[in-house]
Amino acid sequence: MAQARIGLISRGCSCEGRNRQWLKRLAADEERDKIDNGLGRVCLRILIISDIHANVEGLQAVLEAAKGEYTQVVCCGDLVGYGPEPNEVADWVRKNAHVVVRGNHDKVAAGIDSANQFNDIAKQAAYWTIEQLSEENKKYLFDLPKGPLEVTSRYGILHGSPLDEDEYISTSWEATEVFAKLTRPVTFFGHTHMQGGFFRSGDGPVQAIPNPVGDMETRKIVDEKEGVLYYINPGSVGQPRDSDNRAAFVIYDTTGFIEYARVPYDIETTMAKMRKAALPDFLIKRLKVGR
Ligand code: ZN
Repeated sequence: MAQARIGLISRGCSCEGRNRQWLKRLAADEERDKIDNGLGRVCLRILIISDIHANVEGLQAVLEAAKGEYTQVVCCGDLVGYGPEPNEVADWVRKNAHVVVRGNHDKVAAGIDSANQFNDIAKQAAYWTIEQLSEENKKYLFDLPKGPLEVTSRYGILHGSPLDEDEYISTSWEATEVFAKLTRPVTFFGHTHMQGGFFRSGDGPVQAIPNPVGDMETRKIVDEKEGVLYYINPGSVGQPRDSDNRAAFVIYDTTGFIEYARVPYDIETTMAKMRKAALPDFLIKRLKVGR
């Protein structure tokens, strides 16, 4: 059981009425936020993860590295696709994440979108994923909400961009139109598998936060400043593409800082599982180079 192996907080909740439950949770967060605003900001420490892509070893390493540092898990989509253990990852997210938005691979796996939009390699992995997924997990993915999702008055989440959940935002120029649509001081996104993101102070230019954690580092803190909007990518847990093959995540402390983190994981084991599943060679090799 992946859950037992990963061994983390388990918040028992049924799949039924999942969307309703989310809305209730969001309303509760919003309420608590309002109450605490009179006394200063509410202190929540949230583990922000994205693009797990069915990689259990990457997820385990992140949970181990972040252990004791958070009370909630929030996921920006792409639970499945590419990697060898879609059910294990979907099971874990279903049981442990506080809020989740769907990613493009989740939509294809759930039958919302066709795999025809993918290149041949991604398509091959998508068909394999669809064959593996349990009906329960397919339904879970099908029911995942579309971003953007406003979680509290401080922050929101989405997969690609607020204009289009499937849009890649990789450059400051691309991010410029995004900032006009942000409704919270901090928004977390994924999709590009590149840790970092962008910020804008007042009406100033959009600036990038490229590769915040250097090769020889494991953490980098960015202080949240008033009057600045942040569009933050925690990076990918299961298939990093920013030339750093370590699993990526963010801890968001709502009292005012964003902490980027990287952690090595057992890539060889993930690669061996992918070989056994006869997943495309390109997808196996790219894990090692992190591209
Ligand atoms: Zn992805």
